[in-house]
Amino acid sequence: MNVFQLRSVEGPMCLSLGQGFTTVGQTIGNTFVLNNASISGYHCEIEVADKEVRIRDLQSTNGTFINEQPITEAVLYTGQILQLGSLQFRLECTEVTIAVPPISKPVREEKETARLANGALACSIFPQLPATVACGHCKKPYHLSALRVIQLASAKRKKPLFFCPACNGQCHPLFKLDEPRESFLSELPKKIGSRIRRLFR
Ligand SMILES: [Zn+2]
Repeated sequence: MNVFQLRSVEGPMCLSLGQGFTTVGQTIGNTFVLNNASISGYHCEIEVADKEVRIRDLQSTNGTFINEQPITEAVLYTGQILQLGSLQFRLECTEVTIAVPPISKPVREEKETARLANGALACSIFPQLPATVACGHCKKPYHLSALRVIQLASAKRKKPLFFCPACNGQCHPLFKLDEPRESFLSELPKKIGSRIRRLFR
């Protein structure tokens, strides 16, 4: 994409031209208000269409010139001098590259499918521990000890909420804890197992 500027030859003024129409003149209401006696109320119109800058004189008193040639309508090229009344501007062009972030393939989380020696899904934080919950958002499996636990003191619900340490998504049990299954829970001492079960009830 091209961005055009009219840079004053004499001074620091620089008019940045957007795509479409802009006007230059002394009257408030122009895109660029130039408070100069040689400039007419509505002096000229500038149209930027993609890579072309077109100048139209709006029947100004002191005229519009490109490289000292009076014009009523003409294309202004980069490097040329646009003169409005007694003010001179050089057209500059900057190529602007709009960076589009490359679409990256989703990173395959090796940890997500990591398994313990007994075949149980491993926690993605503590790979030596079995995963008992999964994040509802990023789907990572976790052992309860890896989670952020929030106990809402004021809430009616007594059960704490579990949040994913990676994305803060709420985590949920991987399987119905009440159903006896071939899982690490059945191998846990009863006391610990029932404590974990209670958390999800
Ligand atoms: Zn998550």
